[in-house]
Amino acid sequence: MKVLVVGGGGREHALCWALKRDHPDATLFTAPGNPGTAQLGTNLAIAATAVDALVAAVRRHAIDVTVVGPEAPLAAGLADALRAVGAAVFGPSAAAARLEASKAFAKEVMARADVPTAASRSFSALRPALAYIRSHAEPLVVKASGLAAGKGAVVCDTRAAAAATARAMLAEGKLGDAGREIVVEQFLTGEELSVLALTDGEGVAILPPAQDHKRLGEGDTGPNTGGMGAYCPVSLVTPALLEKVRCEILEPTLLEMAVRGARFAGVLYAGLMIAPDGSPQVIEFNCRFGDPEAQAVLPVLPEGCTQHLVDIAAGRWRPPRPVLTASRAAVTTVLAARGYPDRPETGVTIDLPPAADLGPEVLVFHAGTVRDPPPPPPPSTEGTLRTAGGRVLAVTALGATVPEAARRSAAACERITFEGKTWRRDIAWREIRRAGAA
Ligand code: AMP
Repeated sequence: MKVLVVGGGGREHALCWALKRDHPDATLFTAPGNPGTAQLGTNLAIAATAVDALVAAVRRHAIDVTVVGPEAPLAAGLADALRAVGAAVFGPSAAAARLEASKAFAKEVMARADVPTAASRSFSALRPALAYIRSHAEPLVVKASGLAAGKGAVVCDTRAAAAATARAMLAEGKLGDAGREIVVEQFLTGEELSVLALTDGEGVAILPPAQDHKRLGEGDTGPNTGGMGAYCPVSLVTPALLEKVRCEILEPTLLEMAVRGARFAGVLYAGLMIAPDGSPQVIEFNCRFGDPEAQAVLPVLPEGCTQHLVDIAAGRWRPPRPVLTASRAAVTTVLAARGYPDRPETGVTIDLPPAADLGPEVLVFHAGTVRDPPPPPPPSTEGTLRTAGGRVLAVTALGATVPEAARRSAAACERITFEGKTWRRDIAWREIRRAGAA
């Protein structure tokens, strides 16, 4: 089997790792990949959003199945273009990916399907947006409707702050096209939870839910980032909660998408707020694996689970149990570059010891790294590994419990060095606190 993984971050390295674990004989290609995926297969120098070039590569290399990591190529129609030439692909069509690419559309779908979510309204014009904000309770949330790489949602303590945010997005072009439409919504309280489900558009298999840490600083302080770490499983999750999420959120959404002629096949990721009374509400939908959630969730899925991706892509999926459980606990700590998220420093040499020297059950997934070309022949060593992006490495450790996995992940992070290394030592703190209280 020949598999192409599209993308070049830690999530895609984790996908390659899981595919190779489950299918040791598979030939892997990654576009564009990174030095981590290069150890598992062949990196193709094609951008993740270069739809035509990717379709050509799938034909040239006779790829059997393509797994799409990031949202941008899905929103750009990569899955449609591949299906149009008869190629199997794991990831939704552009019409289905609108669940992530347009928050206004997602809100409309949820309203129609009676899915619990924050009360909201969507606006393309500033004046009615400001009028709505003036009548709204504080705090409130203003979101760019389009894809904004995690920078689109602004929690505003005051109506004045919300008005300024709406003005910046709608009138001043901050966030560009992504902010031409905005969603203004009610602020929800509770605990956030990421529930990812595999689906062929009808059946669902819920993966072990995870919690991620969006803020840069320890104690969940500082600016929002793409994610500084994640862990799973999460002990606040009960079978009853997952049943509720399946019946009240995932299945009605899939049905509504199918009714609209936009059947959703791939990973449906529900970012939830679990209210103090235990009821889940949707904060957002994503149309793909989360990053860094994938780096925590994929390693603890039962071996063989990537066959589900292959079967969904081929349109021959037989859903397993509705909930897949984690075999171990996992904690993923992101090592970011100095200056992340605004202006990450690049080009810095990384000293990355072999995984075996980093402690038991440690996996290092590359995200923003690059390797210098090997020295002139005869090449005796590999080229130097350098930082090349904001999130540099994702260090996953497994353990019997989340606290054990967290200790192992942090210990491994201590042993990896590069100038300006920026990371949180408190990933999974909520779970560790819960474990201590238990
Ligand atoms: P989103 O891009 O919609 O996932 O939002 C990013 C982050 O903003 C979420 O992970 C939450 O921490 C926060 N957020 C978004 N919407 C709300 C809301 N309605 N109430 C409270 N927090 C929110």
